[in-house]
Amino acid sequence: MIEYTRKWCKGCRICLKVCPRRVFEVEDGVDRDGYQKMIVKRAEDCNYCMLCSLLCLDLAIEVKR
Ligand code: SF4
Ligand code: SF4
Repeated sequence: MIEYTRKWCKGCRICLKVCPRRVFEVEDGVDRDGYQKMIVKRAEDCNYCMLCSLLCLDLAIEVKR
């Protein structure tokens, strides 16, 4: 299970780049806080490597088995 706290995301794209299963995609457009945020698009493809959770500087992603 991927718990994504959208309001904490600053659109750095680290999760997008490190995810080996292409779980994330970028939202269309920029949010009102000025960030282009992520979408958890293919949660079912997650292999629980934890990279996104470990590397998200804003603690916006938590991965639970
Ligand atoms: S790593 Fe965190 S802050 Fe960066 S885009 Fe992903 S969810 Fe957002
Ligand atoms: S735990 Fe690994 S496979 Fe799952 S979403 Fe995060 S980076 Fe992708």
